[in-house]
Amino acid sequence: MSLVMNLPEQNTDVLVIGAGMAGLSAAAELQRAGRRVRVLDKGRGVGGRLASRRIGEASFDHGAQFITTRDPRFAAALASWRQTGVVEEWCRGFAEKADGHPRWRGKPSMNSVAKHLAHGLEVFVEKQVVALHCLQDQWRAETNTGEVYSASAVVLTPPVPQSLALMAAGGFVLPPEMHARLAAIDYERCLAVMAVLDGPSHLPPPGGLAPAEGPIAWIADNQLKGISAEPAVTIHATHAFSLEHWDGDRPVSGRLLLEAAAEWLGAGIKTFQVHGWRYSKPMRVHEQACVILNQFPPLVLAGDAFAGPKVEGAALSGWAAAEAILKSTT
Ligand SMILES: Cc1cc2nc3c(=O)[nH]c(=O)nc-3n(C[C@H](O)[C@H](O)[C@H](O)COP(=O)(O)OP(=O)(O)OC[C@H]3O[C@@H](n4cnc5c(N)ncnc54)[C@H](O)[C@@H]3O)c2cc1C
Repeated sequence: MSLVMNLPEQNTDVLVIGAGMAGLSAAAELQRAGRRVRVLDKGRGVGGRLASRRIGEASFDHGAQFITTRDPRFAAALASWRQTGVVEEWCRGFAEKADGHPRWRGKPSMNSVAKHLAHGLEVFVEKQVVALHCLQDQWRAETNTGEVYSASAVVLTPPVPQSLALMAAGGFVLPPEMHARLAAIDYERCLAVMAVLDGPSHLPPPGGLAPAEGPIAWIADNQLKGISAEPAVTIHATHAFSLEHWDGDRPVSGRLLLEAAAEWLGAGIKTFQVHGWRYSKPMRVHEQACVILNQFPPLVLAGDAFAGPKVEGAALSGWAAAEAILKSTT
């Protein structure tokens, strides 16, 4: 009953759930092909793990740190973003591990890439989908505030456990074997510390380092990277540290990580914040670039768990999902 009462005024061809790299890539491709597309995201803005934050005059990339390319199609997209001024080369490797392979950073920060992709798309933020219902030839996505968005096809791009939960809540049952394979996709966790320093850090140029041991997986100087006016470091904890401290007090975990980073900080800490990425990186990647879960009405699952645990993989998966929808709806 509530579904009928909350029907939106306008139906759409394709509903994309999630405005991260995968969802935005799928939506842009579908819109380019002439489909009416609507994107819903639970966050306050677009980008998902392509995330940036400001603390005063300091700027941080606290999710994805840089973009790399291997696939020719993604390389072409990146070249166009470079021309538009949305990305620029950060470096060609870090310290002794410099391998000559370009690392691209968003300009002015990583989230700008997502904002650029979202331009011209119908994106609704702060819309948390809680259930996905299949009603005859339509999908209906219900949000936590009781709104319902209907569409002839759906692309689901949240991390896989979250996508499975939406389907289960809507009573959409997957074949047991497929469910088991998708349910086996687990993700690393990552506690991310963003600290504003009172002076330059001791990190060597170009400002990124992956320690070989200890609780820190990655530390970056956002000022050396060229995105922060003030000295500002991002620290990513290892999965093991993040798992152990996940339910603990976040400021306490943040202080432990800052202590572990002391030799690279070399300056006092003015202030810091901690962000927890529950679904940081998929530990295993599905063998297909996207998964068609229902032919009619089409339902496709996409994201970095399908074409590779990186920004590039998420884009490739989003494009594969768009192609699957276009094929099944022509
Ligand atoms: C700490 C960290 C460091 C990383 N470093 C790098 C790196 O250096 N280079 C690299 O290439 N990759 C890196 N990655 C990985 C990269 O960020 C991801 O692979 C990529 O951004 C994933 O994009 P996605 O669209 O698949 O998922 P996401 O970006 O997670 O997008 C999914 C979206 O779905 C939304 N959503 C979830 N549930 C719902 C719901 N119920 N209703 C509505 N919306 C919902 C979320 O809000 C989110 O915006 C890093 C990731 C992390 C976390």
